[in-house]
Amino acid sequence: MFYFMPELPEMENYRVLLTDKVIGKQIEQVIVNRKKSINVSIEQFQKKVVGYKITKIKRRAKHLLFILDSGLTLVLHLMLGGVLFFRKEMDKPNRSTQIEFVFGEERLFFIGLRLGYLHLLEQKDLAEKLISLGPEPLESSFTVQVLTKLLKSRRSILKSLLVNQSFISGIGNCYSDEICFETGILPMRKGNELSLEEIEKLHFSMQQVLTQATIYGGYMDMPLYVNDILTGGYDDRCKVYDRGNEPCLRCGESIIQDKISSRKVFYCSHCQL
Ligand SMILES: [Zn+2]
Repeated sequence: MFYFMPELPEMENYRVLLTDKVIGKQIEQVIVNRKKSINVSIEQFQKKVVGYKITKIKRRAKHLLFILDSGLTLVLHLMLGGVLFFRKEMDKPNRSTQIEFVFGEERLFFIGLRLGYLHLLEQKDLAEKLISLGPEPLESSFTVQVLTKLLKSRRSILKSLLVNQSFISGIGNCYSDEICFETGILPMRKGNELSLEEIEKLHFSMQQVLTQATIYGGYMDMPLYVNDILTGGYDDRCKVYDRGNEPCLRCGESIIQDKISSRKVFYCSHCQL
């Protein structure tokens, strides 16, 4: 099994699909199999979650925020390898679960939470936790001017900047490569050396790639529920990510798989400048 770190499109896909499934339903039971995945005692966690309803699911960067009708928020970060399943208990996947929420006959399974977590927080602690995150790339306030200012303030290479959550939120290994490819620039270019024209292209590609990836259900191909045909639909649409040695879809040359500061990176050295 390959482990992936879900990024903005994958979490946004989960947010939309889960909103349909769990909003307004009472959480009847909570099973915690891994104490390390939560931030309070199991007893406290159950006491403050069981009997409450999720009124809204929001996303900030790669986190999902489950807002409870008590005013508390459950903050989920799947990190590397975490996935969600929403099924009847009999349809439960053959993997150990770290946390389960029971809604009548159906359950939300949290799986692969080794580094990932589900923390219960009050408003003020939530704000504090999210304060260091950079801007959301799909918000209308994230303009070319904002991106230009950000890029001019750093000397790092594009790959490192794009995956840095305090620089921009929600982008990871997959979409940083896809965005650079779409823009036609190399991921090892320095952010502060891009021309205004390149920054405009980068800004446009960011919106383009992240929006399309979200529409097609992201690249993690494990269905959230039975008959979920949306999740993972972008996997086959990635143009460079995980396509090392395969022909570039734009120019036909081989895609290069490399490592930059211990991160996997994929690009075409022929048509990315
Ligand atoms: Zn190419």
